[in-house]
Amino acid sequence: YFVERHQFQGNELLITGDDAHHIVRVMRMSEGDEVIATDGHSRSVRARIVELGSKEVRLVAVEELDQQSEASWQVTIAQALPKGDKMELIVQKCTEIGAAAFIPFESERVIVQYDRKKEAKRLERWHKIAKEAAEQSHRNALPAIHEPLSWKQLLVQLSSYNLALFCYERAGDQGHGAGLKDVLTEYKRKWAEDGTDKPKLLLIAGPEGGFSEREAQQAEEAGARLVGLGKRILRAETAGMVGLSCILYESGEMG
Ligand code: SAM
Repeated sequence: YFVERHQFQGNELLITGDDAHHIVRVMRMSEGDEVIATDGHSRSVRARIVELGSKEVRLVAVEELDQQSEASWQVTIAQALPKGDKMELIVQKCTEIGAAAFIPFESERVIVQYDRKKEAKRLERWHKIAKEAAEQSHRNALPAIHEPLSWKQLLVQLSSYNLALFCYERAGDQGHGAGLKDVLTEYKRKWAEDGTDKPKLLLIAGPEGGFSEREAQQAEEAGARLVGLGKRILRAETAGMVGLSCILYESGEMG
């Protein structure tokens, strides 16, 4: 369980809300039972339940755990808003795989626009899904999920990453772009030389209708590398998962 820092003081922990409900009503745990808890940043413990209420559960830490499950390469998934609830699947699966953060964004061919006022609930739901996925995957940190950005706002962000990868099925055509592996091999060498051991990467995936040529050009001008993920066209919801898996594999994450 992820416990907010202010509810994780010394060896005393307090779990409230949906998580308390989960412990009491779903898992039907009792005093003396143990759970793994983390503050979402640096500390994970084995904690024993000392008091069960209907709305809150008090615990004491009985062992510090030094298992570190966060990937050293911090990959943010920038996903053009897909139709329906596909973003939920992307957040769930990429959290399991090891994404550091998510940035949904609007692009030319995004079909469903995001309305900030009406759709706060959608963002809330993505947070909940990320939290559940992070718990089930025993992550130490919760991935951040940003409010959806416009295409222009996203372009401005590119320079704050060590490497921005723009997934483009046409990379390789007309002499621009390359395969993901070639770009990662080049950067791995560069980072080894300049001592960058925790690079920040941005993986940009398009919507169902793909990116326009203009967007590809603008992304390249803003510093992104256009990369292909193989010869087959992946669904909008598949590209991020595949790209992320390949990146973490190249980082040595998977042994
Ligand atoms: N029409 C399908 C759909 O409804 O999901 C395919 C959409 S595909 C064009 C969506 C995005 O996935 C693209 O904009 C691109 O970012 C990424 N993508 C898919 N296949 C790819 C590939 N082989 N190489 C690089 N990126 C790819």
